[in-house]
Amino acid sequence: MSSNNVILVTGGTGLVGQAIKHVIETEPEGSRFAKLPGEKWIFASSSEGDLRDPVQTRQLYEKYKPTHVIHLAALVGGLFKNMKYKLTFLRDNLLINDNVLEAAHESGTTKVISCLSTCYPLDENKIHTGPPHQSNFGYAHAKRMVDVQNHAYKEQFGHNFTSAIPTNVFGPHDNFDLEDSHVIPGLIHKCYLAKKNSTPFVVAGTGKPLRQFIFSRDLAKLFIWMLRSYDDVEPVILSVGEDEEVSIKEVADAIVNALDFKGDYTFDTTRADGQFRKPASNKKLLTLMNGFEFTPFTEALDLTAKWFLENYDTART
Ligand code: NDP
Repeated sequence: MSSNNVILVTGGTGLVGQAIKHVIETEPEGSRFAKLPGEKWIFASSSEGDLRDPVQTRQLYEKYKPTHVIHLAALVGGLFKNMKYKLTFLRDNLLINDNVLEAAHESGTTKVISCLSTCYPLDENKIHTGPPHQSNFGYAHAKRMVDVQNHAYKEQFGHNFTSAIPTNVFGPHDNFDLEDSHVIPGLIHKCYLAKKNSTPFVVAGTGKPLRQFIFSRDLAKLFIWMLRSYDDVEPVILSVGEDEEVSIKEVADAIVNALDFKGDYTFDTTRADGQFRKPASNKKLLTLMNGFEFTPFTEALDLTAKWFLENYDTART
C-alpha cells in the first residue's frame, strides 16, 4: 500500500470498527499494524448514511473518496433476534452489501474487504456447501452472497474485492443488551446485574456448546494485515485455532471470576442452545501470516469485563 490512502471503515462505530480504531490510534510506530504516514482513516456510523439506501451510500463515497474500504456495516444480532427477524436480516444485509460494493465499483475504490460469517462448519472451501443453520438463515445467506458478488466483480471487472470470516468476536464496544446480544456481552451484563441485585446468575442453555472466540483487537490487527498484504478474492478465516474452542460454561466461569461474583450460578436447560459447534479452521491464516500471537482468552475477557464496568453508562446495553 502506498501513502495518501483513504481507508473508509463502514460500521466504524461497532465492535470491530472501534477495535480497528483503537489499534490504529495506539500501535507504536514501526509496528506492522501502526497507522502509516499519509494514511487517512474514516470510521463511519449509520448516522452518516444509511447503507441500505443506494443514494446515501454513493454520497458517503463522494464525501470521502476512499481508496480502500473495510466493510463491516451489517445488521448483526444475537440468536433470538436472528430467529425472529429472518427476512429483515436477509434484506438489510443484502441491500447494505450490494450498495457498498456497487458504490466502490462506481467510484474506482481499489480494494474492499467485506465480512462473511461462520454460520456453517467450514474452511475457506466450504462456504457454499450445505444450508446454514435454520436459526439464522437470513443473515447467513446474505453473508454468503458477498463472496458470490466478490467473485463476480473480479471476473467481470478485475476488482480487488475480498472478504474475511471472523469467528465469534468480543471486546470493548460490544452490544451488551440483555435480549439481543452475543453470548459473552450478554452474560457479562447478566452477571453484573446478578451481583448488583444479589440475584442468581442464570445462563441460558446447557453451557455445553463450543465456540471459537476472537478478541476484537486481535481481529482488528488481522484486518489491517489483510488490507496491506492480502490481495486474493478468496476469503480468509480470521480466528483462533479449532483446538482453542471454549464451552459456554467456561465462558460463564471466566465471567464469574472477572466480576468476582459470589452468588448462585445455574444453567436454564429449557432455553435453546443454538448450534453445538461451529468449527472454523485458521490453517490458511497461519500459513499466510507467520507468527501472530492471539491474546489469551481469559486476559481478553477480563479486559472486556473491565471496559464494561468502566463504561456502563455509555455502553450499548
Ligand atoms: P456491530 O453490531 O457492533 O456494529 C454494526 C455496525 O454497522 C455499526 O457501526 C452500525 O452503525 C453499522 N450499521 C448497521 N446498520 C447500518 C446501516 N443500515 N447503515 C450504515 N451502517 C449500519 O457489529 P460488529 O462490529 O460485531 O460486526 C462487524 C462485522 O463483522 C459485521 O459485518 C458482522 O456481520 C461481522 N461478523 C461479526 C461477528 C461477531 O461475532 N460480532 C462474527 C462474524 C462476522 P451505528 O452503530 O452507527 O448504527
